Amino acid sequence: MALNIYNSFSRKKELFVPIDKKQVKLYVCGPTVYGPPHVGHARSYTNFDVVRRYLDYLGYNVKYVQNITDVGHLVGDSDDGQDKILAQATKENIDPYALAYKYENIYFEYMDKLGIKRPTISARATGFIPEMIELVQSIIDKGFAYVTSEGNVYFSVHKLDSYGKLSGRKLENNLSGERITVADDKENPEDFALWKSAVGGHIMKWNSPWGVGYPGWHIECSALSKRFFGDTFDIHGGGLDNIFPHHESEIAQSEVANGKPFVNYFMHNNLVTVNGTKMGKSLGNFITLEQLFETFNPMLVRYFILQFHYRKPVDFSYDAIEMVKIQYNKMNEIFGKIKKLSDGEYNEVESAELVDIKESFISAMDDDFNTPVATAEMLRFSKIAAKILSNNNLYYIKEANTIVKMFEDILGFDFTFDDTNENSSQSNEDNEKLLDLISDIRTKLRAEKNYALSDYIRDELNKLDINIRDKKI
Ligand SMILES: [Zn+2]
Repeated sequence: MALNIYNSFSRKKELFVPIDKKQVKLYVCGPTVYGPPHVGHARSYTNFDVVRRYLDYLGYNVKYVQNITDVGHLVGDSDDGQDKILAQATKENIDPYALAYKYENIYFEYMDKLGIKRPTISARATGFIPEMIELVQSIIDKGFAYVTSEGNVYFSVHKLDSYGKLSGRKLENNLSGERITVADDKENPEDFALWKSAVGGHIMKWNSPWGVGYPGWHIECSALSKRFFGDTFDIHGGGLDNIFPHHESEIAQSEVANGKPFVNYFMHNNLVTVNGTKMGKSLGNFITLEQLFETFNPMLVRYFILQFHYRKPVDFSYDAIEMVKIQYNKMNEIFGKIKKLSDGEYNEVESAELVDIKESFISAMDDDFNTPVATAEMLRFSKIAAKILSNNNLYYIKEANTIVKMFEDILGFDFTFDDTNENSSQSNEDNEKLLDLISDIRTKLRAEKNYALSDYIRDELNKLDINIRDKKI
């Protein structure tokens, strides 16, 4: 089997064929850095980390680009309201650049803990304003955008017949009726901002052909993907909630400016809920990763996330994570032990059972990154691995270790064998010596014909499930 990806364009699984045989150009919408990372970030970026890791494993040279939104993302995702960064900076009473930088650092700190590999290129929106201005100008030149007397630039969605091709939204059906209520400088309420004039206390602002302002949120992804990939790239990822208007707008901007298809495969991960309800700051059920990691190991959280397919919702609750804790810890111990033992000199022997695990795991990953099946294979393997270890059946240890390594490379775990287990093998040796000593004492007692005490010791040990045999005198 070969890799099949569910494409949001066609709404079905399609065979993955990259533009360049050896390289995959992957773009995932990055975070807006105005607050601490939460379970929603953990879910989304873990899922796309696995996509990236699997493509790596298949031998592609993956160029993974992610933006850092440090300007232009407005509250409520509409074209009204304040910039999220500016609003939070005002609240925290710091410079908006400092605020964005602070939360960008925190974001990476927590992504690192989750074992998420850093993107090949992580690009701050504020670092690419000239590219965005150039792109906006080319959309204006092609007649798909207009500049208003207030210095705003809007994309004219009615001029683009293909607008809505990702989300399936038809402008007439969904948006009529809203027209009367919108009182701004837009020609049509559906038009979205490419450039906003900086009014009031806007600190993050740049000169442009249309006056001093800042970019709209959607334009950064179009400008950055063009900057690093060119006109068309392979895979674009993001959250389901970004299909409209964000991704629809990215497509419109890029395809008008470049005159080429924007992206071949669009992937969307589903959303998270907390204890069955939508997560939101205002709902008071917002779980930050800082809070979550106080209770749970980040790798356990990663395991929990991967129990769900990326296109299915995940419901986070402490109880649900707790339920897979023992299972994960057990696997962590077994796999960690295999990693350690495989350093020894053993022949490489293949077992049919292990080959089957490997094949089932890979075919699950080929099937649109089916991590629930892949983690179930991991669990099945842990049982076989436990047997290999308990029987000291180390013929298969090298083969078992390549499977452990495959799980680590693709799913991003780092299995560690807890050294306290080493102490337990030490204590096994100690127990052995102790039993030898007791046995010797009993031999002496029986030699002295003190059968009562000798039998008492034997019976008490039997009660503890320790069988001790009488040695011949
Ligand atoms: Zn984006």
